[in-house]
Amino acid sequence: MRDSFSLRITKIIADRAGHRCSNPVCRRATSKAHPNDPELSVNLGIAAHITAASPNGPRYDQRLTTDERKSASNGIWVCTRCSKEIDSAESAYSVDLLRRWKKDIEVATARDTVEIEAGKLQAYEYQNVLQDAFEVIFSDQLFRKRSEVKVNEGRKRIDVVFSNESKHGFFLWIKK
Ligand SMILES: [Zn+2]
Repeated sequence: MRDSFSLRITKIIADRAGHRCSNPVCRRATSKAHPNDPELSVNLGIAAHITAASPNGPRYDQRLTTDERKSASNGIWVCTRCSKEIDSAESAYSVDLLRRWKKDIEVATARDTVEIEAGKLQAYEYQNVLQDAFEVIFSDQLFRKRSEVKVNEGRKRIDVVFSNESKHGFFLWIKK
């Protein structure tokens, strides 16, 4: 049995990558206008499984539940060419590497969609973008995002607060 992605999940995986291939040396756009039908578009992207959808597939991880295997977090958006590459040269494309690609393209996409004018009115918008970027980059280390947290009996406010639950790297180090 294959734990395939639903159409809804496939769209989420594509949207999160901005409809570009997540391979950092590729990054080609995966959607374009149909060459001769103005009512159609062409999709050249695939929601590939980071860990395989079935036991004999590439990078299969038996520890995942069916729901985890079908979830957006187990998918990476790649072009048709790169999808063949990552599945046929399995040893060169580890789960860790693909997760890094995914994170990088999500950060790049978040950055590309941001266009904030300078000025006091846009300060909150700017703050939200920074929060979102932190959430994407440190999704496995920082939790419970809060804004405008009051300290010192409400005399002072901190713009952005996260709970540090890191078990490795820099955030573990600053906890000590
Ligand atoms: Zn590609």
